[in-house]
Amino acid sequence: MIKPIVAGNWKMNKNPNEGSSFINDVIGNLSEVENVEVVFCPPFTGLNNVNINPPYYLGAQNCYYKDNGAYTGEISLNMLLECNVQYIIIGHSERRHIFFEDNELIGKKIAKVINTEIKPILCVGETKDEMNSGRAYDVIEEQLAKGLENLKSLSNVLIAYEPVWAIGTGLTASTDKINEMHSFIRKILNKLFKEENPYRIPILYGGSVNSGNADELISLDGVNGFLIGGASLDVVKFTDIVKIVNDK
Ligand code: PEP
Repeated sequence: MIKPIVAGNWKMNKNPNEGSSFINDVIGNLSEVENVEVVFCPPFTGLNNVNINPPYYLGAQNCYYKDNGAYTGEISLNMLLECNVQYIIIGHSERRHIFFEDNELIGKKIAKVINTEIKPILCVGETKDEMNSGRAYDVIEEQLAKGLENLKSLSNVLIAYEPVWAIGTGLTASTDKINEMHSFIRKILNKLFKEENPYRIPILYGGSVNSGNADELISLDGVNGFLIGGASLDVVKFTDIVKIVNDK
């Protein structure tokens, strides 16, 4: 059975001091966490000198696929490993749409991450236009195929299904839609990696998860946890979601 994961993507929020007191407050509020892994994904400056232990982990929001060199503004996996980063979000829709990351670049990053102990969380999801024009399945299949094309195995890979129209909008995909998409993703993983059991791969849902909908969403069979933006910035909202998943 997959242990559920609740990952908080802080995006470009919280300076290092705010971040470390936030993490301390969350951990202080959550003494009895046994059934869920909690991942904090601060901006890069918030990854240094954070001492946390399982079930709490550090995640990065991005990386580059080169080891070092003239890549202004980028960060390498070695740098992240030295900060004890254990998860990394790759291909978030904001990276795809604001910073124009394409599937090919995302595939190179995933291939590099998989050679370290860091686990990549590959984000996939359709825009509103893609959904309305009936292209959601094709888009997601392509994101999976290209994002994972350089891998021999799915070992350590996590997928986050995040419909772009649900991110930060207060709109959540319906439970039917989430069930359908998570099953579709498992079907494609099975097609791409025939030898592997797709039920072994954690698939997180992301898109306006909050303490009001977390219970219903985590009860869905194919949902193995959440990737959370807005609600991950607030101690009470975030701890409430973790408690809901932990008690499930
Ligand atoms: C996200 O940015 O990955 C996300 C899911 O954001 P929110 O929870 O705010 O919709």
